[in-house]
Amino acid sequence: MSIIDNFSFNANLGGMAGGKGLIGLYIAGKLKYARIPFKVLRPDNSVRNNEKPGLSSRMSSHFFEAELFDTKNASSILSLLEPHIELYLFEELHMVEDTAGLFGVLDDMIDARLSLNILALTNDTGARIFPIAAYCLSRGANIKQHYGVCQHSDLCRGKAVYSQLIAKDGTVVEDSGPIIASGDVLGSEEKKIEGEVDYQPRCRGHFNFEMPRSSTYQGGIFIPDPKRIPREQLPSWLLNRQKLVRERLDERIKNSHHHKDSFFAEYPSSHLIAELRQRGRHKVKTYIQGIRRR
Ligand SMILES: [Zn+2]
Repeated sequence: MSIIDNFSFNANLGGMAGGKGLIGLYIAGKLKYARIPFKVLRPDNSVRNNEKPGLSSRMSSHFFEAELFDTKNASSILSLLEPHIELYLFEELHMVEDTAGLFGVLDDMIDARLSLNILALTNDTGARIFPIAAYCLSRGANIKQHYGVCQHSDLCRGKAVYSQLIAKDGTVVEDSGPIIASGDVLGSEEKKIEGEVDYQPRCRGHFNFEMPRSSTYQGGIFIPDPKRIPREQLPSWLLNRQKLVRERLDERIKNSHHHKDSFFAEYPSSHLIAELRQRGRHKVKTYIQGIRRR
């Protein structure tokens, strides 16, 4: 069976110490064992200078090598794509800068039915959703959330939905806006105060909502309109694959006219949508009622 039939867009989101790295290693381990070609990709600002880029977890000794792309320019991902790769595992995707054009590139990968699995934090240290998490939700991906245990004190066993930015002396650090500084890797803002702050997974009761927040950032949830890559800049195999996906969909719709009942039974929702587009709402309603009466 071709990977086009196995299309999947998965996201593993959550908080720090939630075991996302472990999930990534679990997926990578299974793919490697099954000899399924895959790649781990991560933004170049998510790796410390002296660190070997890869997929790792503090909860495991396993490691898979990763390739880095430019966090300021997501179209750099395109040069890392290869026709024989069946799944792309994206690590630390919340670190990509908002202006990098990431969503347009991901949309193109989804349109070609490449299988994606995205690992990213849901919230920043101001408890605001990262745009990548909102993107995953809006695309109807298979989404799971993973959370760790609150580290406010040894006795709290609360679910750590939040990340708290704290100073060495234990005081909460003022939130300075839409910075990418969450988790345990270096973001652009964190470099300024490197060594002086730490992050802690915190539960609802132990997350400080009273900390001063940046006035420049409204904290609204938004997804910038994906700026699509100009078609002529896309690899030709990716374009061909998108075309093939559309052709297969059209073929299914065409066939459904010859075997309506069995197709409705087999693919009720997708074919309903196709019929809706082709026939208009009223006719489809009549059509469905006709099927039910039989
Ligand atoms: Zn707690």
